[in-house]
Amino acid sequence: MTTTIGSEATASHLDVRSPIDGSTVATVAATTPTEVVDIAARLRDAQPEWHAIGPRGRAEWVRKWRDWIADNTERLVAMIQQETGKAYGDAISEPGYSLLVASYWIDHAEQLLADEHPESTIPTQRLIVEHAPYPLVGVISPWNWPLTMPMLDIPAALMAGSAVLSKPSELTPLTWNEVVRAWREEIGAPDVLACVNGGGNIGVAVVDTVDMIQFTGSVRTGRLVAARAGERLIPCGLELGGKDPMVVLADADVERAANAAVWGACVNGGQGCSAIERVYVEGPIYDRFVELVTEKTRALRLGTDIDTPFTADVGSMSSEAQLRIVEDHVEQAVAAGARVLTGGKRADAAGWYYEPTVLVDVDHSMAVMRDETFGPVVPIMKVADVDEAMRLANDSDFGLCGSIWTGDRERGIALGRQLEVGALCVNDACVTNFQLALPSGGWKSSGVGARFGGAEGIRKYTRARATLSTLAEPATEPHWYPFGG
Ligand code: NAD
Repeated sequence: MTTTIGSEATASHLDVRSPIDGSTVATVAATTPTEVVDIAARLRDAQPEWHAIGPRGRAEWVRKWRDWIADNTERLVAMIQQETGKAYGDAISEPGYSLLVASYWIDHAEQLLADEHPESTIPTQRLIVEHAPYPLVGVISPWNWPLTMPMLDIPAALMAGSAVLSKPSELTPLTWNEVVRAWREEIGAPDVLACVNGGGNIGVAVVDTVDMIQFTGSVRTGRLVAARAGERLIPCGLELGGKDPMVVLADADVERAANAAVWGACVNGGQGCSAIERVYVEGPIYDRFVELVTEKTRALRLGTDIDTPFTADVGSMSSEAQLRIVEDHVEQAVAAGARVLTGGKRADAAGWYYEPTVLVDVDHSMAVMRDETFGPVVPIMKVADVDEAMRLANDSDFGLCGSIWTGDRERGIALGRQLEVGALCVNDACVTNFQLALPSGGWKSSGVGARFGGAEGIRKYTRARATLSTLAEPATEPHWYPFGG
């Protein structure tokens, strides 16, 4: 597949490389900063009418778009696999999840954005809180879920009445460009959604042009975005990295916990912000847990099953740079005394594949237990007791998600209250994001603000306007001039 997207008039192009074999699969025209300003102006022109048609009018367009995604699922999945190298089982979840999110906001936006009437402390005054959209919202996304990441934010922003200027990762722009093209060209929706292409300089241009920025990506870039937003005094939402701990207590169902550890660490090739990145297991079940995890990890099928769905479990790393980070973390750990029970190296095949890996004898001096690995690696540490497990789980700059595994669910929930994370699963992992009534946001360096969570998830794209109207209108008021008169 070799395609060209975008205006040929732009000077430079992005080469999209296949993680499967390193070849160039497409060339995308890069947007210039001047074009970003022009596109933003166009979106701003169209936004007032978009706001004026109200939540029901907007829902009609978002519904048509959602249905187009549903009708084009298999084509989009193939595109996702081409640009990310992920397994079909991971890729197919992207349109599925996107439909879930779009449907949630189609169904809930009107109610969540309705005017509120707080109780007035003065009987003759009537109060209204209105949720008025930021005219132009910017959404900047990473490469690990090229469709899901923008879809987690954009349906809510559109339903709020904002226009949206989006920028996918320069590494994986194809699927998102196609879905934005469909908004205008396939369903004929209003000109309130655009996609610009490029690297960090275009991300900066987006931040410099919009009224609110929703960013998903690394902590390093998140800080830059927050600083820039601060200079402009615009609000930002940041969904950043994670180093999610899994705490397995002695009374846990070992088989279920082992299955979850393997899936939670290797899903999407381990390239998920809420993937399990480190595991702490109490002594009595440690050996059995390690044995099961090793056996199940060894059985995983590595590959990108584009033409043969469900014949691979774990796809490739989406970039060569990411592959090197994973290699580096494992090599450093081994040099410091860790043992590889399976995997531990890049695959012999062409492309950017890393063998699913189990590491033991790890500790917190190692990058694999401290920094985001973002690869199919399960580092497991034996702990003396629950206190040690909780202390180690909290010994991190990150605080995105975590999980606790125990036969006593109530104890798990109670222990979870000590875990410094924005999202917690008890006897499950990585699934809070599928419950859209829950907020999804990181603590500590993992983020600022949250996606979803009912009202909070959509009102962040709006400003509250407080309106007071008076029911009684005497000629003057006791607090007006003359004072004391
Ligand atoms: P990244 O920070 O390198 O890039 C993210 C996006 O920011 C890209 O589109 C990039 O072009 C753009 N960008 C780069 N410099 C910029 C700047 N100065 N100003 C504005 N935009 C700029 O991240 P990545 O490597 O693409 O993605 C991986 C990271 O994303 C991981 O840390 C992962 O944990 C995180 N992530 C978080 C979540 C979440 O919901 N918390 C979800 C997925 C991924």
